Amino acid sequence: MADVAVVGGGISGIACARALADAGLTVDVLDRGQRLGGRLAVQTLRDTGTPFDGRVVDVGAAYFTVSDPQFAAVVDDWVDRGKARAWTDTFHVADGTGLLGTKLGPMRYAAPRGLRSLVEDLAVALPSDLVSIAHPVDVESVDVTAEGAVIAGSTYRAVALCGPDPQMRAVMSGTTAADDALAHAPLWEPVLALTAVYDERTWPEVDGVFVNDDPVLSFIADDGRRRGDDAPVLVAHSTPVLAAGHLADPITAAPLMLGALDRIVARSEPAWFSVKRWTYARPAQAREEPCYFDGVVGLAGDAWDGKPRTEAAWLSGTALGQRIAAGISA
Ligand SMILES: Cc1cc2nc3c(=O)[nH]c(=O)nc-3n(C[C@H](O)[C@H](O)[C@H](O)COP(=O)(O)OP(=O)(O)OC[C@H]3O[C@@H](n4cnc5c(N)ncnc54)[C@H](O)[C@@H]3O)c2cc1C
Repeated sequence: MADVAVVGGGISGIACARALADAGLTVDVLDRGQRLGGRLAVQTLRDTGTPFDGRVVDVGAAYFTVSDPQFAAVVDDWVDRGKARAWTDTFHVADGTGLLGTKLGPMRYAAPRGLRSLVEDLAVALPSDLVSIAHPVDVESVDVTAEGAVIAGSTYRAVALCGPDPQMRAVMSGTTAADDALAHAPLWEPVLALTAVYDERTWPEVDGVFVNDDPVLSFIADDGRRRGDDAPVLVAHSTPVLAAGHLADPITAAPLMLGALDRIVARSEPAWFSVKRWTYARPAQAREEPCYFDGVVGLAGDAWDGKPRTEAAWLSGTALGQRIAAGISA
């Protein structure tokens, strides 16, 4: 039996597994997805009636930014090997009627094969004699006993719950110290992601668009420019309020989202579209602490380490792996 179970194969869980393996511990990573990556998610286009079938589209995180030197080293390695690319530091701003101008910000990074490929790249590099990755495996419950954490009859010295608080709270059975930490979680906001595939580009040169003061859309990405192949594909993220009203049947939000996309940037009908639901897209804010560990149960993800974003998820998972290693090796 492995020393530690990591529930969640998103970027925080894989970073946690890396830190545990670096300390010589054995790890079982369990994820319920068909593929690893969590919210660094892609959709493969199929039956669109366009030449773009087989192409992947980023339907989760739109991009990531880098400020921490440790994460920067990981990103530099991706860039050197062609896995990630510096996309742009200039986004447009818009309101519900159209583009207003541009705004300079930090460099945003993307991945030619989609952001999920970066998590898969981290996972492939894990030492197979120490880390085993199983998916799809839906962890139904984690029981804390005097011996450790029990998952499906297997007892681990510790468990790392790496992902959205509501999803991780759902697997904890009984009342534990970690349950209390999860109960005081930040609010998690939903988002709908609309993918629209066009026959040709009909919009001005934009990379990403922050949409302000609009009840329907909050952000638009040009997926062709983001991924570097110039395919005429846009991805639009809804506001949390719009998503909350359409979670039961996301496709019913499509007319509103397409209408806003058309008004703000596209100026034409797509050849194909789909809508992806994220019930727990982002925490409204993140806790300042990098992670939580009570001796048996650990928590990590983008609701930790100060900023609710991809970089924080990697830092939080890494910090948790190091804390568990220090705690159970002592
Ligand atoms: C629409 C959208 C837009 C975003 N935009 C940005 C952005 O522009 N910039 C940015 O930096 N970040 C952005 N993010 C946030 C970014 O995606 C996250 O910060 C990051 O992916 C979090 O990684 P994680 O490993 O903490 O969680 P996740 O990626 O959510 O991983 C959790 C994993 O746990 C698994 N899991 C859950 N429950 C169970 C269970 N019971 N058993 C087994 N496995 C389970 C899930 O399958 C999942 O793979 C965005 C997210 C969304 C959804």
